[in-house]
Amino acid sequence: MIKVSGGTVRFGGHVALQDVSLTLEAARTTALIGPSGCGKSTLLRLMLGLVEPDSGVVEFDGAPLERANRIAIRKRVGYAIQSGGLFPHMTARRNVELPAQHAGWDRARLDRRVEELRDLMRLTSDALARFPAQLSGGQRQRVALMRALVLDPEVLLLDEPLGALDPVIRGQLQHELRDVFSELNSTVVLVTHDLAEAAYLAPDDIVLMREGAIVQRGSFQTLREEPSAPFVKTFIDSQTERVAALTGGAV
Ligand code: ADP
Ligand code: MG
Repeated sequence: MIKVSGGTVRFGGHVALQDVSLTLEAARTTALIGPSGCGKSTLLRLMLGLVEPDSGVVEFDGAPLERANRIAIRKRVGYAIQSGGLFPHMTARRNVELPAQHAGWDRARLDRRVEELRDLMRLTSDALARFPAQLSGGQRQRVALMRALVLDPEVLLLDEPLGALDPVIRGQLQHELRDVFSELNSTVVLVTHDLAEAAYLAPDDIVLMREGAIVQRGSFQTLREEPSAPFVKTFIDSQTERVAALTGGAV
């Protein structure tokens, strides 16, 4: 699906990603996790073609991501960020419709799709008629997720989509997202700094990063029981109680 080989990204003298290789499998949810500044967002943006590697290759279904095919590939990928990234001067509905309008969809098709997604993300029509500033943080994230899903993408890249929400709303959306991911059956990459969220939403595939590199990839259980480095154990141990609280000890 998406394959990064030897990806290195520098910003000035700073190495944000160092020789990162990662293959994403179809129809699986993967969590990218690690301390702030370790390169999670950069890796996601690299997969989307929003940053170019200084060295290394990104492939999408076997084809290298390059200037010529970037736009076409981006239509097959949904992307949502922490703040939602909605256009403030457009209603929520317009924000959701925008990618599909650019893709040339007619009114009837647009209306059908918005209704489907509204149902999936549990928003009222009334909420969709409002501007982003008139919505709660949780509603804004639901709208951002609707927009990311509108073109029915093969891959969904989510950069700390719940990061800005208060704990109660965040918990609610975590439960809903789990249902959404299993219903969608698409490839999902979820960036988070919260191990409980990673263990809950992507128990089988967690990629733990540190300082621009992948330290260990595996199921939550593997990371917990067979940490490949002291850092992995420290990272897991520091969040164990919260993992147990969210997953109910299921992982
Ligand atoms: P994370 O998402 O894990 O918190 P990022 O991928 O955002 O980390 O950032 C990795 C490192 O690269 C950080 O040190 C950050 O300051 C730096 N960085 C990210 N984007 C840029 C940019 N556009 N210009 C300069 N430095 C950047
Ligand atoms: Mg980030």
